Amino acid sequence: MVTAEKQDMRIAQAWAVLGQVMDPEVPALSVVDLGIVREIRCEASGLAIDLTPTYTGCPATAAIRLDVENAIEAAGLGRPTIRLVTSPAWTTDWISPDARRRLKEYGIAPPAGSAPKGRRGLFAPEPAIACPRCGSTDTRQTSAFGSTACKALYVCAACAEPFEYFKCI
Ligand SMILES: [Zn+2]
Repeated sequence: MVTAEKQDMRIAQAWAVLGQVMDPEVPALSVVDLGIVREIRCEASGLAIDLTPTYTGCPATAAIRLDVENAIEAAGLGRPTIRLVTSPAWTTDWISPDARRRLKEYGIAPPAGSAPKGRRGLFAPEPAIACPRCGSTDTRQTSAFGSTACKALYVCAACAEPFEYFKCI
């Protein structure tokens, strides 16, 4: 007989474990920081985890799913059931304020403001982005795509440093 209290403890433990699972594309942030982990439930068959990929077709989704499964299993919490939830769609608004700060410390400019309405998405120009190193907004986009499709490359005119910007979606 599994008590409700034990279930809560298992769920809390699972959140703590996933708080250590870093996003493969943004190693400064965990899948919990990014808001990819939506819900963890305790079901008869074991833990059930809802994940929302950062955007549809993000090649990291399969890797994240595997990392989550392995981390939960390695923590002795059993093999979880993973459900990919694509609605509502993930948005950069789900990145916590603390996570935005750490993103900046890592040298990636956090998403500016909140997600654009409509289909601006990954391809449209972005507003003025502050340099994560010196804070200057005298920056220029050099490439719409950085190391991954969800980041753009910028260069700062004030300190001449190139940096990545995590796009608003
Ligand atoms: Zn700068």
